[in-house]
Amino acid sequence: MNRVTQAAGHDKPLALVVGAGPAGLMAAAELARAGVSVVIAEAKPSPARKLLMAGKSALNLTKDEPVETFLRAYAEAAGWLRPMIEAFGPRAVQDWARELGQDVFTGSTGRVFPKVKKASPLLRVWLAELDGLGVELRTRWCWNGGGGPGWRFDTPGGTQTVKPDAVVLALGGASWSRLGSNGAWASWLIERGVEVAPFAAANAGLLIGWSDHVRRFRGAPLKGVCFTAGPFTSRGEAVITERGLEGGGIYTVCRGVREGHPLAVDLAPDLSPDRVIGRLSRPRGKASWSNFIRKTLRFDPVRLALLMEFARPLPTDPARLAALVKALPVTTQGLCPIDEAISTAGGVTRAALDDSLMLRALPGVFCAGEMLDWEAPTGGFLLTACLATGRWAGRAAAARLGQTVPG
Ligand SMILES: Cc1cc2nc3c(=O)[nH]c(=O)nc-3n(C[C@H](O)[C@H](O)[C@H](O)COP(=O)(O)OP(=O)(O)OC[C@H]3O[C@@H](n4cnc5c(N)ncnc54)[C@H](O)[C@@H]3O)c2cc1C
Repeated sequence: MNRVTQAAGHDKPLALVVGAGPAGLMAAAELARAGVSVVIAEAKPSPARKLLMAGKSALNLTKDEPVETFLRAYAEAAGWLRPMIEAFGPRAVQDWARELGQDVFTGSTGRVFPKVKKASPLLRVWLAELDGLGVELRTRWCWNGGGGPGWRFDTPGGTQTVKPDAVVLALGGASWSRLGSNGAWASWLIERGVEVAPFAAANAGLLIGWSDHVRRFRGAPLKGVCFTAGPFTSRGEAVITERGLEGGGIYTVCRGVREGHPLAVDLAPDLSPDRVIGRLSRPRGKASWSNFIRKTLRFDPVRLALLMEFARPLPTDPARLAALVKALPVTTQGLCPIDEAISTAGGVTRAALDDSLMLRALPGVFCAGEMLDWEAPTGGFLLTACLATGRWAGRAAAARLGQTVPG
């Protein structure tokens, strides 16, 4: 069956949003508020599966800090994301969540979460709001890359074609494909003359070939250390896993490893090199080296195991040993597979878009969210940029149709 949904005969222009993640839902809301008829097509049987997964432990919506500081997380993309984040940044995200009935709280590091921590209550109200705005959500509608006149979707009822007046693509990155974002769209856009940077894992764990000595600590936190890889540094936590290291502290530096920088771990970041040398120069008596280090540097078993893993045979000279304690070279086998990464780098390049996030090669088609070529560490930066670019693209698509969002 091949049915066609089109604008002809409608009193309002029709916008098609492909992808019902946070970026697509935000774009749809803006379009609907501007008085545009909106159809969202989503490949999965239900919307925003990755958002729900993000809220499984605690949904980190944004980071409560000045926009200027906040923008630094986006590195080289900060310049072009600036107007979008200035228009919808950390404050606006918090207000938006509150308007959806979700009280938020700010943790000690400035990260902002809904009080209920989960994403499902927020999503439920958001979907109800979209429904109230008349947005039509069609699930199990998978854009199959098919072009020609109209946009073609594989649906349970056969191929369906939509002929909209404007389109917002919000198809996500290329990780956790089981939740819908499989990156299949990249080749379809490249065929249409759109520049797409290759995907790469971002916010990913590191693969390390542990000895049995360290592997027995799997599941244990590695605390009170500082990771460095090239220009990236982090005092966040990590967890020893069967295959390596995972956790916020690692995600912050994984870009450095991806770009070929060695990983170094400062096992005593609160002690200056001189103080470490001073402590290691104390009389050792009959204590074994490992016991001496554990006591004199107050190392827990995990930090000691890491030192032994990469510093053996331990130098007896305090200055040489202190140098290893302050910058332990950790050999990695690179990043975990891209499908396991929290997010992906790469995607539609800035050069492929105009300032309104419209594809230069496909006038009337806008892009938003993680499918754009920017990356940021975890900490609420991902969702904030997805919401901000979704809002920007939705408003720009409405403007192209001669409509504006009131207020
Ligand atoms: C485990 C985990 C935890 C996370 N925690 C956080 C966090 O706490 N804070 C934070 O800021 N970020 C977090 N993130 C990242 C965040 O969830 C993503 O960056 C965000 O969901 C991306 O939004 P998006 O709308 O761009 O894409 P997505 O949420 O990936 O949505 C894209 C949608 O497009 C649909 N789609 C794809 N292809 C097609 C097609 N051909 N046809 C129709 N539909 C299609 C997909 O099914 C999907 O629903 C986390 C991610 C993971 C995996």
